[in-house]
Amino acid sequence: MVQVFNCLDAMRKKITQWKREGLRIALVPTMGNLHEGHYSMVTLARQHADKVIATIFVNPTQFGPNEDFDCYPRTPEGDILGLEQVSCDAVWIPTVETMYPLGIHKTTQIHVPGVSEVLEAVNRPTHFDSVATVVARLFLQVQPDIAVFGRKDYQQLAVIRQMTTELNFPIQIIGADTIREEDGLAKSSRNQYLSAEQRLMSTIIYRTLLDMREGYIAGRSRANIEADATAALAVAGFQVEYAVLRTPELAEPTSECDENRVALIAAVLGRTRLIDHLEFSCPKIQ
Ligand code: AMP
Repeated sequence: MVQVFNCLDAMRKKITQWKREGLRIALVPTMGNLHEGHYSMVTLARQHADKVIATIFVNPTQFGPNEDFDCYPRTPEGDILGLEQVSCDAVWIPTVETMYPLGIHKTTQIHVPGVSEVLEAVNRPTHFDSVATVVARLFLQVQPDIAVFGRKDYQQLAVIRQMTTELNFPIQIIGADTIREEDGLAKSSRNQYLSAEQRLMSTIIYRTLLDMREGYIAGRSRANIEADATAALAVAGFQVEYAVLRTPELAEPTSECDENRVALIAAVLGRTRLIDHLEFSCPKIQ
């Protein structure tokens, strides 16, 4: 049975007991409305730890004023059943008051410089401050040995890795592979906002990422590839925020393709914002 905690003291008591027993604890933070991508993270966490605790918290501070906080899908009963099926040991479902005792506008904030300030930050300048802040709070509440985050949110994972290293959290960060639908669309709680027609169009994101990889490996210029990707998405009806090729650290590559690269896309279809990425290595130039 998955143990459900709504109270910080009770959750900490359980963690303290596990630690006394010498057990290794893994944390899997989520916003709920769980799907196969989330469940695969629990399974991965289980491979690295004795006990797995998932969290469900729709973090109000990381939604912009025109974003979908109020209507973000909340399905706690189904989530708990699903977590039970993947043998999750516990789920921590804090209230907003527990996470932000002084209120959401009076929180101690964490800003991770550099990696928080590009790509997603262009349209959502404080988004990663809110993510880093809530993740740091979860780290301090749970004090896990490891924490699993999806590579699906590539920049978020980079922000959390940098914060963990710089603040010396004694926590090993593990990146989980992206789980996709059969046609390539990355699974996401937001996919259910798509109409049937938009759902068909949405596969263009993954296909564009594959085209970007192919073009780059074939030696096309980065500028042309990014322009073509943006145009392909725009023609299909997307409002493109970015379609870019970056180094794994999210810097602009200064040389042609001779190392690992990542293609990243953020684009809005109707009222649904979708992000995805594809990591790849380039053949060494002789
Ligand atoms: P969310 O509930 O959407 O905030 O996501 C919680 C965690 O699940 C984050 O670390 C995400 O990167 C991860 N995640 C979301 N979708 C997927 C997916 N399709 N495959 C793997 N991990 C995912």
